[in-house]
Amino acid sequence: MFDLQELELLRNDTPGTEELIHFNNAGCSLTTTIVRDTVINYLQEESLKGGYETEAKYHHDFEKVYASVGQLINAHTNEIAYVESATAAWDLAFHSIPFKAGDVILTAQCEYASNFIAYLQAKRRHGVEIKVVPNDANGRLSCEALEDLVDERTKLIAITHIPTNGGLINPAEEVGEIARKHGVYYLLDACQSVGQMPIDVQKIGCDMLSATGRKFMRAPRGTGFLYVRKAILEDLDPIFLDLHSAEWTGRESFKVREGTRRFESMECNFANKLGFGVAVEYALKVGVENIWSRIVELARYLRKELTKIPALEVKDLGVEQCGIVSIAIPKVDLFELRDNLKYQGINTSVIIPSGTLLDMESRGLNQLLRASVHYYNTREEIDIFCQKLGKMIG
Ligand SMILES: *Cc1c(COP(=O)(O)O)cnc(C)c1O
Repeated sequence: MFDLQELELLRNDTPGTEELIHFNNAGCSLTTTIVRDTVINYLQEESLKGGYETEAKYHHDFEKVYASVGQLINAHTNEIAYVESATAAWDLAFHSIPFKAGDVILTAQCEYASNFIAYLQAKRRHGVEIKVVPNDANGRLSCEALEDLVDERTKLIAITHIPTNGGLINPAEEVGEIARKHGVYYLLDACQSVGQMPIDVQKIGCDMLSATGRKFMRAPRGTGFLYVRKAILEDLDPIFLDLHSAEWTGRESFKVREGTRRFESMECNFANKLGFGVAVEYALKVGVENIWSRIVELARYLRKELTKIPALEVKDLGVEQCGIVSIAIPKVDLFELRDNLKYQGINTSVIIPSGTLLDMESRGLNQLLRASVHYYNTREEIDIFCQKLGKMIG
C-alpha cells in the first residue's frame, strides 16, 4: 500500500481527480496525464510525419507493449495479441475453438451478456450445449458442482473472473485446476480483474484470457488484449486472418503467423496502442499488489459506510470482495439518481438486468447503482458520496 505522499503524487498524475469524484472505474477509469499526452503527441506526430513513418519510428515501443502485458499477467511476450476491446479479444478466441455438435460449454451464473450471446450463437451454429454451473453458498461459482458437470463432452469452461455487477471474485485458480485435470479448454474473461488485482496466468491455469484497457488498467478507450497459451495455439483456427496474422506464400498456400499475434489484424489505432502500453507500464510501476490492497481497503470502507444508510442495501456476493460495489435502492429511479450525482460531481453507473441476466434474475434484482473505486480514490471522497447519497434517498 502507498502512503499519503505517494497517493498525492498519483492523484497529481490524474487531473480528473481535481474535477470530480470518479466512482465509475468499472466502466472506464480516469487516465493519467502521461497516457493522455502520449496519445495526443502521437496523433500530432502522425499528422506531421505520416502514419506509417511514425509507426516505424516507434517500432520498439510498440514491441514493448507485449512485454509489458506479459509481465503484468506472467505470460510470454509471444502469447499476447493487442486488440481494440475485451469483447474483440474474447470473441477472437472463442470463435476460433473448433466446436462440433454435442460439445458442452460450462459457464457461471454471473456470465456477461456478450459472452452468453456468443454461447447461444455457437449453439445455433454448431449444436453445442450450454450448461450453467450453480453458485456456492457465497455466490461464487461452485467448484464442486463444476467438477460434477465436467465429462468427456465438455469442450470449454468459460467464466467471468469478476462480474460487471458487484464485488464477487470467482475462484479462477480452482477452476483452472479442474480444467487442467480434465484436459478441457479454459477461457477466462478477466475484463474487470486485470489492473485491479494481481493476475498470474500460470497460477490460474487458463488457456485464454481477455481484458480491456479502459477499465482498471487506466488505458485509453478502444484498447484491450488477448492472451492465448502457446500450448493450445495450434488447436485453434483463427476466425479471421489477414496479411499481418498470416503470410500469403503461394497460389494455394498461406502460413499463419507465429504466436498469439495471429489473432491481430494489421490496422489499429496506433496512438491508443502506445497509450495502452504506457498505462500498463504505469500500473507495473505503481505495483499491482499495492493497487489491489488499496482498492480492497477503500471498497471495504465504502461498504461499511453504506450500511449506515437505511434506504439502501449492498448486494455484493463472494468471500473476498473487489472494488465494485453494487447498491439496491427500492422505489428510486437509479438513472435519475445517477444523473443527480453526476451534476454534483460524482460519477457512478447503473446496472440493468440484461448485462448479467442469469444472476440478476435469479436474485430478483432490477436495477443496481454501481460505485466502483480505484486506488486513486480517497476515503474523503467516499464520505462525500455517502453523505450526498444519504440526503438524496433520505
Ligand atoms: C466490460 C466488460 C466486458 C466488455 O469489455 P469491452 O472492452 O467493452 O469489450 C466483458 N466482460 C466483462 C465482465 C465486463 O465487465
